[in-house]
Amino acid sequence: VGVVTDWSALIRDIPDYPKPGILFKDITPLLADHAAFTQVVDELADGLVFDKVVGIEARGFILAAPVAYRSGAGFVPVRKAGKLPAATLEASYDLEYGSATIEVHADAFAPGERVLIVDDVLATGGTAEATVELVRRAGAEVTAVSFLMELSFLSGRDRLPGLEVRALLSV
Ligand code: IMP
Repeated sequence: VGVVTDWSALIRDIPDYPKPGILFKDITPLLADHAAFTQVVDELADGLVFDKVVGIEARGFILAAPVAYRSGAGFVPVRKAGKLPAATLEASYDLEYGSATIEVHADAFAPGERVLIVDDVLATGGTAEATVELVRRAGAEVTAVSFLMELSFLSGRDRLPGLEVRALLSV
C-alpha cells in the first residue's frame, strides 16, 4: 500500500499564459515534490501492459521516461518537426490558429509492439490524436493513453475513440 499524497494541490493555475485568456496548468510544483512525482508516475502505468512508452515533447518526456524506467519498457520521443535526427514519419494537426507538426523516428518500434502514450495535459486532443496516428503508422499498437490531467470541458477524449484513456485528474 503506497502513501497517498493529494498531489492535485501541486498543480497551479497561471492566468494569461502563454496568451491572454488562457489559464495554464503548471505542473512544476508537482514535479518538485518527490512523493507526488513518484506516485503519479506509478498511477500513469499501473495495470497497463506495454513494451514501449511514448512521451510527447516536452512535458510528456518528463513523465514518460520514469514510467519507462519503472516498467522495464523502452522510451520513444515524439517531437516537434525538425528535432529528430534520423528518418521520420510526420503528422500535422490543426491548432486554434494555424497548425502543428510532430514526428517520430520511422524505425522506433518493432512490428506489433504495444505502446503506452504519456503526456501531461489532455486539452483538445489534437496532439494525442496525431501521436496515436504516428505510432500506428510506425507499425505499433497503442494500448493506452495516460495523462496527468484532462481538461474535460474540451472533450479531448472524443478524439481517441476505442482507446483506453486514463486521466489521473479531471477538471
Ligand atoms: P491539445 O492538443 O489541445 O490536447 O493540447 C495538449 C498539448 O498542449 C499537450 O502536449 C500539453 O502539454 C499542452 N497543454 C495544453 N494546455 C496545457 C496546460 O494548461 N498546461 C500544460 N500543458 C498544456
